[in-house]
Amino acid sequence: MNRYPKDFKLNEAIELSKESPFSDLHEECGVCGVIGTDEAAHLVYLGLTTLQHRGQESAGIVSFDGRTNRHVGMGLVADVFRKENLVTLNGNCAIGHVRYSTTGSSSIINAQPLLAGTPYGELAVAHNGNFTNAQEMRKKLEQSGSIFQTTTDTEVIMHLIAKSGEKNLIAAIRSALAKVEGAYSLLFAVKSKNKHGGEGTLIGVRDPLGFRPLVLGKLNKSWVFASETCAFDLLGASSVREVAPGEMVIIEKGKEPRSLPLTDRMPKKSAFCIFEFIYFARPDSKIYGHSVYEIRRELGRQLAREAPAQQVDCVIAVPDSSVVAAIGYAEESGLPFEVGFIRSHYVGRTFIEPSQHMRDFRVKMKYNPIKENLAGKSIVLIDDSIVRGTTSRKLVRMLLAAGVKEIHMRISSPPITGPCHYGIDTPNKDELIAAQKSINEIRKYLGVTTLRYMSMEGLLKSAKSGNYCTGCFSGNYPTRLPARKGAKGEIALKC
Ligand code: AMP
Repeated sequence: MNRYPKDFKLNEAIELSKESPFSDLHEECGVCGVIGTDEAAHLVYLGLTTLQHRGQESAGIVSFDGRTNRHVGMGLVADVFRKENLVTLNGNCAIGHVRYSTTGSSSIINAQPLLAGTPYGELAVAHNGNFTNAQEMRKKLEQSGSIFQTTTDTEVIMHLIAKSGEKNLIAAIRSALAKVEGAYSLLFAVKSKNKHGGEGTLIGVRDPLGFRPLVLGKLNKSWVFASETCAFDLLGASSVREVAPGEMVIIEKGKEPRSLPLTDRMPKKSAFCIFEFIYFARPDSKIYGHSVYEIRRELGRQLAREAPAQQVDCVIAVPDSSVVAAIGYAEESGLPFEVGFIRSHYVGRTFIEPSQHMRDFRVKMKYNPIKENLAGKSIVLIDDSIVRGTTSRKLVRMLLAAGVKEIHMRISSPPITGPCHYGIDTPNKDELIAAQKSINEIRKYLGVTTLRYMSMEGLLKSAKSGNYCTGCFSGNYPTRLPARKGAKGEIALKC
């Protein structure tokens, strides 16, 4: 590793890594990559805007022409990229990333794509997922002389590639990925050393269990990778297929994609993250072979069958993520769907005083109930999930203050009782309300008349065919989970 982006701050990185290597173990991210057109970076920029829901903390793009171009920044895609920096991102190969992480590491040094010089040429990487053994690997790498410049788990893979000793990049990526565990949908862009001054190659990889989605599309003569198909709709690209679990797709300029297996020992079953259907992915995307909208609506229908509510006037949703499930619930139960809350989409990250009084403003800034539509009514309130319970409790108070008579809360997923180790930001067990309280205790805490969750059977039935990771609900994590020191309430290792 001999070259880092201009804006790396080594001292800051070292301080952060001393404090807590991988303070950002829980990340949510989106990736997009394009090869085969001089507009590659512009298309990636557009693609990233559609993936903004997957990460709002930082955004970045790397592109290759004769030179290497990188621009990353904190904030939303539209704020990070201005005309003046987009025009510098030349070349016909580009990858981009949006990232959200909660703890400690809100720092520009962790913004992706990461970029480094390797024996195989300059390499950029964008990662959606989480390497579960990153801490162990980092320790080993540091003991053998690696100097880390970020606190992301993703950097581990760059060091492993650089140190692999393999003859070519493809072999180096395979050897590096054989050493990591967990979830990864990765995009690599490499500027190979050749007589043309370095042309880009684009590589998309999905882990053998396929935790996170990754799709391949085609736009005229160029190829596109994205976390979700909604990116293709904006670009006008056709969706070719999903990158298969355990597959590496290599695309060189002017050539058709080549496919290679990552490993000779593929697991028998996949472990697609079921929470993508429940909350995370956009309803206008198709992932794991299914329309997110259709599955989410079916979750609502199934919930209505399992957990009907008596003598209620209407169904309302916590916007936006629960709207589709609420439509399904209303359809199945024959109740009218009403808009109960208006959500402001312009709030962004708020920097207000950390007192309780001020914190209450955060939820109020985002949601406002339509009093005229709610006063005197008994309602079914649909939410897709309860995490800590804090937002739900505030929303319930707002509804009661708006004159709602009775709230029957219905959740279109089972109780979340464990953290996600594979790339979705869920807190540790001790902060998860369903890991600490019974359903009746949660009902009382929220202040609702009745509370029912989706059953695990109902969830799996609604998700149709596919083998899913349900770890955050069931505790059945499909990979080994190295014990983390000091992680309270960590779930025992399950394979
Ligand atoms: P809470 O008040 O902590 O229980 O938060 C519940 C709300 O958070 C629900 O409305 C969910 O739609 C939303 N939610 C669920 N998972 C996540 C996540 N990983 N990141 C951000 N919001 C989430």
